[in-house]
Amino acid sequence: MFLESKANRNLHKGWIEIICGSMFSGKTEELLRRIKRAQFAKQKIELFKPAIDKRYDETDVVSHDSTAMVSTPVENSGEILLYVNMESVEVVGIDEVQFFDEGIVDVCNQLANAGIRVIAAGLDMDYLGNPFGPMPCLMAVAEYVTKVHAICSRCGDLAQNSHRLVKNEKQVLLGEKDSYEPLCRHCFNEAVRQDKENSGDE
Ligand code: ZN
Repeated sequence: MFLESKANRNLHKGWIEIICGSMFSGKTEELLRRIKRAQFAKQKIELFKPAIDKRYDETDVVSHDSTAMVSTPVENSGEILLYVNMESVEVVGIDEVQFFDEGIVDVCNQLANAGIRVIAAGLDMDYLGNPFGPMPCLMAVAEYVTKVHAICSRCGDLAQNSHRLVKNEKQVLLGEKDSYEPLCRHCFNEAVRQDKENSGDE
């Protein structure tokens, strides 16, 4: 669990928190938990998600446990700056941040530099186990990085990989339990080996 630090909050406002992990690791739940606590504190919040992610709802950020909050879908990172009033907004939440262009790093920095608490959640690795889009850079510039884990569907250990169950080589394939399974490093390596064997292109 992430414990918010209160040190010098009034002196130095503005920082970046990244919540990362595999599919089914509870990233969105953790993002919404932090956003709700900011709401209890009566802070002014804006919540964004990439327009690409329309799995459940056009404007809500919905987690797998069906908690929902209204968010603004944006086509690219620059659009976030058009929606955020730097004078009044205190917290900016971004879900599925891995789908944004590289400009998202600069956008998050600009928001944090302007005194805004930025909380962004995203997949740290794609289905091949490679770092996903802008995630490595976001994790580098963030003050706080929280890695959350799913449970390996094969051995019950902590899982950090999202293994794709359907054959498709695009990096972005939106899906649910029928398209991905969370796996630990060892079960993931074994699954990738089996996939190669099955496709016969080893
Ligand atoms: Zn495992």
